[in-house]
Amino acid sequence: MKRRLITLIFSVLIVFVIASPNIFANSLLDALSLGLEKEIGYNTYHQIIAEKEVVQLPAEQQEWINSMFSKLANQSKRQNELEYSLTVVKDDSVNAFALPAGYIFVNTGLLSYIQSDGELAGVLAHEIAHVDRRHSMKAVTRAIGMNVLLGLIINKTDSKRKEQLAKIGVVAINLAQLGYSREAEFEADAYGVMFMKAAGYRKEELLDFWSRMEKDSGGGNSLAILQLFSTHPPINERIKKIEAM
Ligand SMILES: [Zn+2]
Repeated sequence: MKRRLITLIFSVLIVFVIASPNIFANSLLDALSLGLEKEIGYNTYHQIIAEKEVVQLPAEQQEWINSMFSKLANQSKRQNELEYSLTVVKDDSVNAFALPAGYIFVNTGLLSYIQSDGELAGVLAHEIAHVDRRHSMKAVTRAIGMNVLLGLIINKTDSKRKEQLAKIGVVAINLAQLGYSREAEFEADAYGVMFMKAAGYRKEELLDFWSRMEKDSGGGNSLAILQLFSTHPPINERIKKIEAM
């Protein structure tokens, strides 16, 4: 009986979501979907660590990166509803990415590329900002459709559910590694700079990082720089905007 009532309530909510203007639908979805975001994040995290080699850094370095990460994550207004976590994986490309619900990954290639604390802090802050602004969940929702997500919220037991979550995981990984829309990237830059400053780092160090990236990725340089935060928007545009902040 209770189950039927819950199903009825959700059905009514779905009608509202589908029939309402976007803003209302989005905020309702946000409220409904925190649990789902955590589930998607958790599943996707496990998909990644099943494929990539997780690196345990030497104690001192691990402590250094953890303390930097928690100072930055503490700036996010979502820090009470989520548990931000940082995982280092063995991969030579200069990259970092964020999954729904605060699972952030850093490649060993990025750790060897950075030249100061502020450079890494700026990159981590950018990834935390993607989670803070829910870019991943929004992009996943766009990619798979709100109806599928709502179906998952209602349906906790269907055998197909696991399969769907695994598929969503693949989508989330691709989105995270390729980067989000132009607007989302600029927004993550803006929030990231805010977070890094609040945590005591200087944005000039992030600018150093981007300038070096721009130099090293141009002119046919074959360094494994490729796609840090996606190739769009162009690095020079990002630098200009960060300088103006
Ligand atoms: Zn990004």
